[in-house]
Amino acid sequence: MSERTSIICPGCGKLVSDYMENCPHCNLKHPGQKQRFLSTFGFNIRSFVKPIIAINVAFFILAYALPLFIPTHMPMGRDFLGLLPAPSYVSLNLLGWADIRLMLAGNWWVLVTATFLHGGILHILFNMMWVRDLGPQTEYLFGPHKMLIIFILSGVAGNLVAVFTPLVANSFLGTRSALLPVIGASGAVFGLMGAMIAFGRKRGGFYGRQLVRQMGMWALILIVMGFLLPGVSNAAHIGGFIAGFIIGQILSLRRFTVNGSAGFWMALAVMGLCVYSFLMMGLRLLSLVSRI
Ligand SMILES: [Zn+2]
Repeated sequence: MSERTSIICPGCGKLVSDYMENCPHCNLKHPGQKQRFLSTFGFNIRSFVKPIIAINVAFFILAYALPLFIPTHMPMGRDFLGLLPAPSYVSLNLLGWADIRLMLAGNWWVLVTATFLHGGILHILFNMMWVRDLGPQTEYLFGPHKMLIIFILSGVAGNLVAVFTPLVANSFLGTRSALLPVIGASGAVFGLMGAMIAFGRKRGGFYGRQLVRQMGMWALILIVMGFLLPGVSNAAHIGGFIAGFIIGQILSLRRFTVNGSAGFWMALAVMGLCVYSFLMMGLRLLSLVSRI
């Protein structure tokens, strides 16, 4: 008998035999073939939690380091306690914060890059603690690829809502809110909570009810805190939460739970969106730097 090797199914993240036609857990066709295809591009990933944290930390370091490479006056910002140095606004702009002026000029990709940017040590620390806590839980319930879909799309939706809320309020309610740029992974984190609530409601039973209660309570506490703390965009939180709930509902449909292929291709598209956004960020950065 020849030796059979096990691989990680790229549809659901569970161990399956390489030779199988369909994954027995998520029904993805030819999981071995797809896994080999992905690993040629370096995606041999069982969990997206660490890569997400790594990209956030890399961007954070880059935001501090950018003034070293770019000969322009970039004053350091202040973290929200006013005690710690924070990346300068110029750095955050160059790395693609979600600014309405940038977006209306056609740079919609900033909705993705802004999810990976943070304005200070406490900001990134809190958000990454939530990612480390809720990421694996979401992956356990939905599988790693669906967690990535929920995380990225909720982050995008949260930023979109946060950017346009003051504009809509100014136009229709006559408020005079400043159109501030938005950064941070918190919309995405709230998306994970929303998706887990959708899962819990669908699953029902004691475990389902506990999940709904726990995630609902956290979301509520954080949103109340968001109204009390200055400089927090609750629009991003609420937008991300609602988006995560809707995406969680969709990904809990039979089409996605029985057929791993749909989720797999969707995750691949989301990864493509991220690669495109980072590429556009790099190109904009290069063209701006070359003009200095
Ligand atoms: Zn599978």
